[in-house]
Amino acid sequence: MSKNTSAVKKLSRNLWWSWDTDAKELFKNLSPLLWERVNHNPVELLRHISTDELEARCECEFGSRITQVKQRFEEYMADTNTWATNHAPELVANPVAYFSAEFGIHESLRIYSGGLGILSGDHIKSASDLGLNFVGITLFYKEGYFRQYLNHDGWQLEDYPLQYPESLPIEKVTTKDGKDLIIEVTIAQSTVYAQAWSLKVGRATLYLLDTNIPANESHYREICSRVYGGDQNMRINQEILLGIGGVKLLEALHLEPAVYHMNEGHSAFLTLELLRKEIAKGLKFEKACEKVKEQCVFTTHTPVPAGHDRFSRDMMHYTFDKYVTQCGIDFEQLMKLGAEDPQNTSGLFTMTVLSLRLSRSANGVSKLHGEVSRDMWKHLYGTDDPKQVPIGHITNGIHTKSWSSGFTDRFWKSHAENIENLFSSRESAEKALSKVSDIDLWCLRYRLKRNLIDFISRYLSNQLYHQHQFTPYKPEDSSRSVKSSLSPDVLTIGFARRFATYKRAPMIFQDIDRLNAIINNPVMPVQLIFAGKAHPHDDAGKEYIRQIVELSRRPQFLGKVIFLENYNLGVAKRLVSGVDVWLNNPVRPMEASGTSGQKTVLHGGLNLSIMDGWWCEAYNGTNGWSIGSGEESDNYDEQYRKDAARLYEVLENQLIPTFYERNEHNVPVRWLKNVRNAIASIAPVYNTDRMVKEYTLRYYLKEPRV
Ligand SMILES: *Cc1c(COP(=O)(O)O)cnc(C)c1O
Repeated sequence: MSKNTSAVKKLSRNLWWSWDTDAKELFKNLSPLLWERVNHNPVELLRHISTDELEARCECEFGSRITQVKQRFEEYMADTNTWATNHAPELVANPVAYFSAEFGIHESLRIYSGGLGILSGDHIKSASDLGLNFVGITLFYKEGYFRQYLNHDGWQLEDYPLQYPESLPIEKVTTKDGKDLIIEVTIAQSTVYAQAWSLKVGRATLYLLDTNIPANESHYREICSRVYGGDQNMRINQEILLGIGGVKLLEALHLEPAVYHMNEGHSAFLTLELLRKEIAKGLKFEKACEKVKEQCVFTTHTPVPAGHDRFSRDMMHYTFDKYVTQCGIDFEQLMKLGAEDPQNTSGLFTMTVLSLRLSRSANGVSKLHGEVSRDMWKHLYGTDDPKQVPIGHITNGIHTKSWSSGFTDRFWKSHAENIENLFSSRESAEKALSKVSDIDLWCLRYRLKRNLIDFISRYLSNQLYHQHQFTPYKPEDSSRSVKSSLSPDVLTIGFARRFATYKRAPMIFQDIDRLNAIINNPVMPVQLIFAGKAHPHDDAGKEYIRQIVELSRRPQFLGKVIFLENYNLGVAKRLVSGVDVWLNNPVRPMEASGTSGQKTVLHGGLNLSIMDGWWCEAYNGTNGWSIGSGEESDNYDEQYRKDAARLYEVLENQLIPTFYERNEHNVPVRWLKNVRNAIASIAPVYNTDRMVKEYTLRYYLKEPRV
């Protein structure tokens, strides 16, 4: 193997490449067609290119580029002068262990479902960039999350293509003598075995547990089939594997975490395994609980009581009967840890309650969500006053480099002296912006929107092809004409996220005539792009998709309202960079934070959102638009109508006229002022570098620094 070939192979085995535009383009240029076909997966790409071909391409085309990228990668990996070594040296010896049921790192690794996973992925990337000693723990889901298809009626169908380890940059974890490392967990009366995989994410490592091995009975193999798949029984088994299995894995690796971070309650059973270890050392139950508490921090993401994981007493008994004995506690003690009222253990076991009881700190994911969480859980702390409740907040962010794009990257590089620090502070962002003319900025927008429209045409021809496979093509269905009708001159609004009903995707269709007038306004037209998956069991969410697809086929909306199937990280990257406006209209306060709107900002996109989650604290009157000013009502329908009316008002009276107000060069000066304000006020704050620094200084360190 030549030097270049081995360098390319090496780069493919660390997901660092996924947030380095040059590395990404290197892989893409090896074979642009194949790159699309393998879903941007370099390991798969390299499996399809013969060694000779690879050598030839590496030699003649990009020898020096490969050398450059590899050198930067090696410098990155070897850098010891990092933020963490300077600001949190206590954490260098022992890792932060971060547990999450899903990680959205790249579209080629389908072990995530939505926002929670993307957040975990962006968290681990920033932890790597900041130089934290950091390991992630999750499961390896062989079928991942589903691929979404729409049938001719617009109804969502699910498909579960398998993921093969040999096509992914994951390695089997082995013992010193070269055998597979196998972890054992007790579930009900059985022992379940899990193989461990490791994945390099820059300097950080993600470990993935996998029960899909011959040693297990088939129903235990299925624990690692699907992200959030199956019933409650499957769910509890997955959570045991993640929490208890995860702690056992760390022990087998001789890692002694400085802190265990539970990202959402799914992994809360990890506290039980820590408890078992303390009790085995000879501590009494109460003392052992205190010890566990000293080691754990917890982040909650769910602002409504119904959203929290809960298990029945019977299910707990069945599943933990044997484990509690191993643990050295009795079943009642276990139930008390997860009961909202410890005096009454006959009801449900709540994972969030367990997490809150056995963590030294807890936080929500935006300022508003912190308030909501304090109020929701105050009874656990024996108070009526939310201010007395020790739940803080750290607002979510995004990993800026991952959400940039080749084009956006080059744009900012050509205007900033120091691209590394471009969005590290408002001052540096403003400095770069001061070198960007309105025409430059408008060109960026125009170009990104054209790229998106090109992408959509290619994507749709595939999508329509599939739709017509289910039912014969109807001549009167002219949806094929969609491709040509999107225009880069038209104000483009995007809405894409999980189709959980609280996100109210169809809101903009509340008044069809009014929307028709907006979309088909002859001088100020608008086009809408939708995408999103409903959970396979969520028929109400699927019905929302069906409605939007049906509406998009009406003559007045054809080619102007688009639904893209199979929303994922790759589609998200395209959408957030291309649209002018990112729309978010959830039921306040159900969007704990939301992050997708943050992704659009560095591309010059603007947010139009309900005052919920992160937007509630980021909106300042000049950096986007708010829908209403934070009203809440207990009446769902009434709230829906009012929010929809407010949405139309902002669109008609403020947003659309601003977009179409042009100077003599046809540049929307007032609009671009908003864009500048958005970039300066949002990008430096709502990113995971800031977020992980906050976690470190406030929660990961034993002695908080802020
Ligand atoms: C960012 C992202 C999300 C989260 O979107 P929200 O609007 O914050 O809920 C979900 N899915 C994908 C693929 C994303 O990239």
